Amino acid sequence: MTAGQLCYMSFGPQRSHRADKSWKYFENILSSGHGSVLEHANFNVLLYGCSRSFTHELVRHRAGFSPSQVSQRYVDGPKLRFVMRPEWQGDEELEERFFTRIVAAAKEYDFLAERLTKKHREKFGDALSKTEMRKAVNQAARACLPNETEAPTILTGNVRAWRHFFNMRGSLYAEPEIRAVAVRLLRILDNQHPIFFQDCEIQHDTLHGAHIVLKYPKV
Ligand SMILES: Cc1cc2nc3c(=O)[nH]c(=O)nc-3n(C[C@H](O)[C@H](O)[C@H](O)COP(=O)(O)OP(=O)(O)OC[C@H]3O[C@@H](n4cnc5c(N)ncnc54)[C@H](O)[C@@H]3O)c2cc1C
Repeated sequence: MTAGQLCYMSFGPQRSHRADKSWKYFENILSSGHGSVLEHANFNVLLYGCSRSFTHELVRHRAGFSPSQVSQRYVDGPKLRFVMRPEWQGDEELEERFFTRIVAAAKEYDFLAERLTKKHREKFGDALSKTEMRKAVNQAARACLPNETEAPTILTGNVRAWRHFFNMRGSLYAEPEIRAVAVRLLRILDNQHPIFFQDCEIQHDTLHGAHIVLKYPKV
């Protein structure tokens, strides 16, 4: 709010720190498309239990977001976790195939890691440090991991970027995993600071479930 007021040196007693006015003030910002002032406010979120295919879509959002994601070069096989898509859940056969697939992937990962460790030892002896060896092994062994592999991520984003994310990824056309995350995050952030998301509505339809509609999507 201060950033917007600074633009016009508008700090009079009628304007500053008036909760009843600030709601309307932000609606003016949104309706007039003065979105750059929303870049001053940031939210950090920890995302876990989400898949690598989800984070691949997430990191396409370049403007206003900074991600830190678990390193598959550094983090070893025993810490691997997998995410069951909603489409598999509740279907006995699809759930079973998921479990078979991830057990096979984890086994293949272990096989590759063991074989690569041996090969690197033969080739480099003690020349590789423990960390260099770990990275050399993991960076190749991860090639067999599916998109269902969990990819924990901390994401910092400014309010303008979050609103754009909700518009794109909360829409009916978005992929279901990222749409479900967008809806949950909107609920969380809106609970913290509803003023920024006052025009965002979570709607439901029988085909897609919950999705997000913004009154002012182009801020
Ligand atoms: C339903 C859906 C389907 C998709 N399908 C595909 C697909 O098939 N293939 C594919 O590759 N991608 C696909 N995408 C990803 C999409 O193309 C975008 O890369 C992604 O949504 C990021 O959005 P953004 O481009 O608005 O970028 P953001 O980084 O979120 O940027 C926000 C805004 O900032 C501005 N901006 C950012 N960077 C620049 C820049 N370099 N120059 C000028 N302006 C900039 C733009 O106005 C942009 O809209 C899909 C996305 C959705 C939601």
